[in-house]
Amino acid sequence: MKTLQPVRGTHDILPLEHNIYSYITQTAKSVAASYGYHEISTPIMEFKEVFLRTLGDASDIVTKEMYEIADRGNEEIVLRPEGTAAVTRAILSNGLTQNLPLKYYYQGPMFRYERPQKGRMRQLHQIGVELFGVADPVGDVEILSIAYDILKSLRLETKVTLEINTLGDKESRNAYRDQLVTFLKDHYDSLSYDSKQRLEKNPLRILDSKDEGDKSILKNAPLLNETLNTASEDTFANVLKGLDELSIPYKLNPLLVRGLDYYCHIAFEFTTKELGAQGTVLAGGRYDGLVEMMGGPPISGVGWAGGIDRLAMMLSDQSLPERQRPIAIIPLNQEYGFKGLKLAEILHRQGFIAEMTYDGNLSKRMKKAGKMNASHALILGEEEMKNQTITVKNMDTGEQSTVSITNISDYLS
Ligand code: ATP
Ligand code: MG
Repeated sequence: MKTLQPVRGTHDILPLEHNIYSYITQTAKSVAASYGYHEISTPIMEFKEVFLRTLGDASDIVTKEMYEIADRGNEEIVLRPEGTAAVTRAILSNGLTQNLPLKYYYQGPMFRYERPQKGRMRQLHQIGVELFGVADPVGDVEILSIAYDILKSLRLETKVTLEINTLGDKESRNAYRDQLVTFLKDHYDSLSYDSKQRLEKNPLRILDSKDEGDKSILKNAPLLNETLNTASEDTFANVLKGLDELSIPYKLNPLLVRGLDYYCHIAFEFTTKELGAQGTVLAGGRYDGLVEMMGGPPISGVGWAGGIDRLAMMLSDQSLPERQRPIAIIPLNQEYGFKGLKLAEILHRQGFIAEMTYDGNLSKRMKKAGKMNASHALILGEEEMKNQTITVKNMDTGEQSTVSITNISDYLS
């Protein structure tokens, strides 16, 4: 039956994989929180307009990846493809722009109608941070520092490279855009179909074309960093200085652009060679025009989003911190089940993981305890109940002791 399959491009995250997802999310959240950022969640649905207005009508997301929902009220609703525009919408809807800076992090699923392949899903999962109201390079360096700290905490920092570029301010970007279009028009016939489409609407995007023909044309293209005005040059130099001071390694990539209209100044990606073609694990940049584009005041912004699915592919069970071993509860007959649950509840409050075994005789339940990698098994039998004691078996040594119920958590710790 077709309906027993998850929808194409989506998948179930089963417990073992979930451990890795949670580890990434928790790590990212606690690093962001340690910088004084706060969590924000926006709905997974938004009016289509939120993304149409901001991402630019030539971006991949808007032209082909948006998941539109048939809404009974005839509203144009989409499943959110990314977080930044949604968070920006939220700060405007909630009138939060009076109190700057705003420092947020978020986590959750995003939806893009893409061709599913390794590292590319239709329901993807992102963590992201956004900093509104800080135009100074300290803001750029801070959000890069958060990203790098997270990667370090995940022990992935040696497996990724920070590639960075600047798009400059509007003036620099427009000047460059004209030069690039002039150059590319001379090679129009040799451009790929996609690049021809982009030439009018989103020519900068051609720079990161994966087409080999395009790539060889681009070898001689004018570069962004050659048309920067002094202010943009200084800003970028300052960001790089900050990265040096924080010992965050980077590689300049003059061809790096981001696909969305709202970027200016820095654009960056943390890339890896470990994942094949889908090698970007975290990406972002500065988006000073975004809040205004959405009808708000001119407030600067800078941020990034990381792909949890791709980060998870770089980690394994072994990368996770060791988990606390559980304690198995073994009631020797059905009658003692509730007493077992009560005991478990006491242990939970003391910080133990205590897990029930549900049926079978002693030997079957002991096997279960072994399977759950329990450190101890607590056996509740008739004799024990009469004396208000428990038989505690150390699962590693096989040693057994009789412990009074009131002393059990002391004994175990
Ligand atoms: P790409 O060039 O790979 O399509 P993008 O520029 O569309 O990436 P962003 O919008 O910057 O990606 O999203 C940030 C991060 O989210 C990416 O670096 C990647 O790790 C992850 N990501 C984006 N799209 C997908 C997807 N379809 N499946 C899984 N992860 C994704
Ligand atoms: Mg994409």
